[in-house]
Amino acid sequence: MKTAVIGFPRIGEKRELKRVTESYFKNQISKEELISESKKIREKHWKLQSDAGIDFMTSNDFSFYDLFLDTTVMLNAIPKEYKDLNLSELDTYFAMAKGYQNENGEVKALPMKKWFNTNYHYLVPRLSSETNLKLNSQKIMNEYLEAKNIGIETKPVVIGPLTFLKLSKIEEGKENYALYLLKVAKIYKELISELSKTGVKYLQIDEPILVTDLDKNDIENFNNIYSIIFESKPDLNIILQTYFGDVRDVYSDILKHPFSAVGLDFLEGYKNLDLLEKNSFPQDKVIFAGIVNGKNIWKNNYKKSADIIDRIKKMVPVENIVLNTSCSLLHVPYTLRHETKLSETYKNQLAFAEEKLSELSDLKEIFSSDNFKENPEYIENIHLIECKNKIKEFYSEDIRRKVAELTEDDFNRTSSFTERIREQNDLLNLPKLPTTTIGSFPQTADVRKIRMAHKKGEISKPEYDNFIKDKIKKIVNVQDELGLDVLVHGEYERNDMVEYFGENLSGFLFTENGWVQSYGTRGVKPPVIFGDVKREKSITVQWTKYAQSLTDKPLKGMLTGPITIQNWSFVREDLDLKTIAYQIGLAIQEEVLELENYGIKVIQIDEAALREKLPIRKKEWKEYLDWAIKAFRLTNSRVESKTQIHTHMCYSEFDDIMQGIKDMDADVITIEAAKSDLSILDTLKNNNYDKEVGPGVYDIHSPRVPSEGEFKGLINNMIELFDTDKLWVNPDCGLKTREEFETIESLKNMVNAAKEIRKNL
Ligand code: GLN
Ligand code: ZN
Repeated sequence: MKTAVIGFPRIGEKRELKRVTESYFKNQISKEELISESKKIREKHWKLQSDAGIDFMTSNDFSFYDLFLDTTVMLNAIPKEYKDLNLSELDTYFAMAKGYQNENGEVKALPMKKWFNTNYHYLVPRLSSETNLKLNSQKIMNEYLEAKNIGIETKPVVIGPLTFLKLSKIEEGKENYALYLLKVAKIYKELISELSKTGVKYLQIDEPILVTDLDKNDIENFNNIYSIIFESKPDLNIILQTYFGDVRDVYSDILKHPFSAVGLDFLEGYKNLDLLEKNSFPQDKVIFAGIVNGKNIWKNNYKKSADIIDRIKKMVPVENIVLNTSCSLLHVPYTLRHETKLSETYKNQLAFAEEKLSELSDLKEIFSSDNFKENPEYIENIHLIECKNKIKEFYSEDIRRKVAELTEDDFNRTSSFTERIREQNDLLNLPKLPTTTIGSFPQTADVRKIRMAHKKGEISKPEYDNFIKDKIKKIVNVQDELGLDVLVHGEYERNDMVEYFGENLSGFLFTENGWVQSYGTRGVKPPVIFGDVKREKSITVQWTKYAQSLTDKPLKGMLTGPITIQNWSFVREDLDLKTIAYQIGLAIQEEVLELENYGIKVIQIDEAALREKLPIRKKEWKEYLDWAIKAFRLTNSRVESKTQIHTHMCYSEFDDIMQGIKDMDADVITIEAAKSDLSILDTLKNNNYDKEVGPGVYDIHSPRVPSEGEFKGLINNMIELFDTDKLWVNPDCGLKTREEFETIESLKNMVNAAKEIRKNL
């Protein structure tokens, strides 16, 4: 048996890559420095893997921004507007990633999309008749040779042609798809020939698209592409690598082609083992068996791995089995070594990228012998896993019982929307087209500085609290003066909409350095849901209460929903997702009820991440949406009819989950729309959406201040598309990342526009 890694977290042990790249963006270091620093990072990662005894290490998994964008460059699919900038190759690359601005004008960045069901975003290229596809193998070659120069043989990785084509935006010439396909396939063929001439022995082609629902056409395209690639027998071995699921639609098609090896994910791809057993596996091919989780941070359960390997061994000769990560380790933090605050009890249960390398080597050693059950590492692992169940502080009899006893009634409000909205209107007495914001106001440098100082113990809790109160007071006054109708407290107390809640709930653990790349130089540090979740104390009540005391206008309580908390955390694997979601739902319910009790009349429960964890396979959507939406409903099912529940989502592609959105039964939903031209209102109307809705009219991702006239135009469009009595006027999302002056200017224009239009209603 051998071991392999699909990809290693390129951000570096202490996010070195982020630091140098951002310094380069700020002109603090030269291009040469950036390049030499990045080279050091790559070399370090290869050495680390080589020292850990990994047999198949990857090159070209490094990227300055995004591997998909690298593939775009490799295929010379750079859209014209970026080429026209006449920048160096590196700066053209960054222009696609981040946009570019100079005296002559402005080019926007390529759009970003979520990478399958992860929290990673890739840049979506655009293919059109202007695209001149041709091979640029410079980066992949360089990195392979770089490793070779330090004595390390790697397998370069590249995103596969089908995945590339399916995830790109094919603009003009859609009818020419076959042509693109042919061209792209030929380029990969050329790449393979170049690589083999350079001495590459294995090439890893990532085709995660193969784990999605594929139709006849897709399968035909897959077969066509690889028939072209394999027209002549390549002089190197090709590993077809899949991850994030199973290949049920194409298993036999994959085997038809002369891939030397096939990489299958045996964790998320729960049908892969069955496929293997039912259809067998050619004896001359190697299997890269994904058994070390690249998406979660728990220590590998060696017994479970043994069961999987046992089944694989019956189908594939041992010498043809390579133990692999389930996907790239890009999706987990780098190392546990810098976690100084977590006790050993917890750390023993965790494995980040570096620790996963040791796991692979352990597993290789353990399973190379038939009586592995006597291997001390194996015994030790079984013992450790058992220990987890004995960590008492993470088990709550009480919350387990509460979840078990939930009945249908617990998920339903007691009155219909018609009754509720009547009572709410009587109580709130809002004008038509009420104005509000999504929750956060700019988290300016002073806020971050004071929070840091408080965290470090440099300023006391009362001092910190007073600072936050002061910020709240100021922003409530600002909103009053602007004439907004439903105010917010500004969310100054929270650095993050998930971490803050986690910190105030039991069952969560936090890392100091557990950063994971979200996109480009941006990272997230997800909390870890380690045990049963319970609300130990009030979370937001004191701030909300205080803010409401400062104004006569209704002030919206601001909470994060259970699904968003769950989806933006690393989740325990010993309990099902539904139960965990209900635990969080109950905790948020307690907070909702306490807010209501203190006279908060409007409460918003954000579900920004509901959509992104939709299962990859459509068949599984219903099951997910059923419990996810119930978890949301649980948070507010016990409030009185007169309490208005809002929810917010950062997207507006609802067409395919419309029923789910309706089922959430929120009185008001605010959504992103500024970028999608309000077409969402058509969708809602066509689906008989009968609740109130606030389509974002102010794009918070841009520093631009829209004029009153522009807002008026948008609001007038809204009125044409939807029942005026049901419309709200608000920004796209929270204002956290904006500057104060621009948000205030924009909100002023927004409120005035709404007021003007009201006059004519
Ligand atoms: N209430 C949050 C805010 O305003 C919502 C953020 C989000 O949807 N991502 O920041
Ligand atoms: Zn949002």
